[in-house]
Amino acid sequence: MQAAQLRQFIYAGIVGDAFGVPVEFKARGTYQVTQMTGNGTWDQPRGSWSDDSAMTLALIDNLTTDGNYADLFEKFQAYMMWGAYTPRDVMFDIGKTCAHAIRNRFINQLPPTACGDASEFANGNGALMRLAPLAVVLQAEPDLTTRLQVTADYTKLTHRHPRAILGSYLYLECLHAMLNGASLAEALVQVSASLSLTLRHAPDVLAEWSYYAPYLTPTIGTWSVDQIKSTAYVVDTFGAALWCTAKAQSIREAIVLAANLGGDTDTIATIAASWTAIRYPLQAVPAEWQAELLNHELLNKLIEPFVTKYADK
Ligand SMILES: [Mg+2]
Repeated sequence: MQAAQLRQFIYAGIVGDAFGVPVEFKARGTYQVTQMTGNGTWDQPRGSWSDDSAMTLALIDNLTTDGNYADLFEKFQAYMMWGAYTPRDVMFDIGKTCAHAIRNRFINQLPPTACGDASEFANGNGALMRLAPLAVVLQAEPDLTTRLQVTADYTKLTHRHPRAILGSYLYLECLHAMLNGASLAEALVQVSASLSLTLRHAPDVLAEWSYYAPYLTPTIGTWSVDQIKSTAYVVDTFGAALWCTAKAQSIREAIVLAANLGGDTDTIATIAASWTAIRYPLQAVPAEWQAELLNHELLNKLIEPFVTKYADK
C-alpha cells in the first residue's frame, strides 16, 4: 500500500469508531446521525474513539516495534488499567471477553494464545474490531496457510471459539484479496472458494461456515436493512459491516449507514470504514471528521512510524 492509502485505511477505522460511539446501543430507527457528534451513550466529547481503536492502536504499536504476543498483552493491559492508547488517558469501555483475556494473562499467567475464551457464548466482535492492521502486514504473504495461522493466533489472544476465528479469516482474507486487486464481489467469491477448501483440514472451523455463508454474496448490498442485525455478536457484526461496505459508494456513506444501524454502531462503523477504505483506495476519509478526532499528537505518534515501516517504498 502507498503511504497515503495506508494512512487513510487506519484513520478510516478510527473515524468510524468515534462516529459510532455516541449512539452505541441505541435502538435502530430512534435517532439519525449524519455528522460527528459527542456525549451520548458514553458521555465522551466529540471525536473520542473507544476500545476498538485503542486496541487497534496497541496492535499498530506492537507491529511497528516487532513486539510478540506477550508484548501486545502488555499494551492491552496498559489500555485497560491506565488508559493507554485513548484520547484522554481514560478507558471508558472494554468488552467483557477482552477484559477476561487480559486477566487470564496477568492474573492466571496463561500463555498469550490460551487467554481467549473458547466458549460458544464468547463470540463477540472483540477480535474482529482490532485486527485491520494485520491485513497490511499480511498483504505480501503469499501462503494462505501462513496467513490463517497468524490471523488465528492474533484472534485467540481474546477469542478462541472457532466461530470468532472464522470471522477473522473471512474479514482479513477479503481485505487480502482486495489489496491484491480483487473487487469486493471477486473477493467474496475467491475467499469462499479458497477457505472452504483449505478448512477441510480444520473441521472445527469449517463447522462454523453455515453461520456466515448467507452473507457471503456480492448482492448483500441490495438487501433491505431489516435483514441486517447489528449486535456485537461476531456473525452479526461481520454481516452488518459487509452490508455497509457493499452498499456504500464512499467511506462517508459506509460510516453513516453503520452508525445508524443501532446496536454496536462503533464497531460496525470501524470495520465498515476500514473495509470501504480498501474498496475505494483513491477516496479520502472525510477531512472534517478526521480533524474532529481528539489527540492528534498520540495518533501521529503511533500511526506515522507504522506507515513509514509498512508502506510501499
Ligand atoms: Mg467500542
